[in-house]
Amino acid sequence: MIIVAATNNRHKLEEIGAITASFDMELLSRKEAGADGFEIEEDGTTFEENSLKKAKTIMEVSGKPSLADDSGLAVDFLDGAPGVYSARFAGEDGNDAKNNAKLLDLMKDVPEEQRGAAFVSVITLVFPDGETLVARGECRGRILYELQGENGFGYDPLFVPEGFDKSFGELSAEEKNRISHRARALVELERQLKERLGKETDR
Ligand code: IMP
Repeated sequence: MIIVAATNNRHKLEEIGAITASFDMELLSRKEAGADGFEIEEDGTTFEENSLKKAKTIMEVSGKPSLADDSGLAVDFLDGAPGVYSARFAGEDGNDAKNNAKLLDLMKDVPEEQRGAAFVSVITLVFPDGETLVARGECRGRILYELQGENGFGYDPLFVPEGFDKSFGELSAEEKNRISHRARALVELERQLKERLGKETDR
């Protein structure tokens, strides 16, 4: 099955490509599908809303099944912030370094036992007939007191997943892609896709 990945984020594309390499699907970029050159405003208040909006828009433009990831970091001490606003935490003209600096500052006096957080990814796949599959993946962990590691992107150098003593910024891409929120959402999506195929062949 040919599926368009509705993201222009290079890091997300790489991760989605690596995680789905063993799945029965061929991924196309927005460019390859002729669905690039415009921005999609992420004005929803939930990961589900933004994920659906991105997937539906790209499906409508490309005419092909399209998949979108909306994701972010939910920090317990900050009541789930930055959440859906993760990319814009330090403002519209912010970047990963500014977002990380803001998070470090807000968390600087917070004790170890209150530094829990979760990365969340909601992947939505919209088909041309309107059928929609939604898969959510979470990865719990804790927020560090300083940046560690250079791998990955976004908040990776500040997040240590449960059961590990290294940040996502220190783990290899292969290690991150085995346990990440994105990997869990995509594995769940694959399960739903297989179920859908099963139903089709039963008809
Ligand atoms: P989106 O493009 O609105 O889904 O924004 C996602 C934002 O959440 C990114 O810009 C990062 O700041 C953060 N984020 C999501 N997934 C990850 C991840 O795997 N590692 C680090 N940061 C992430």
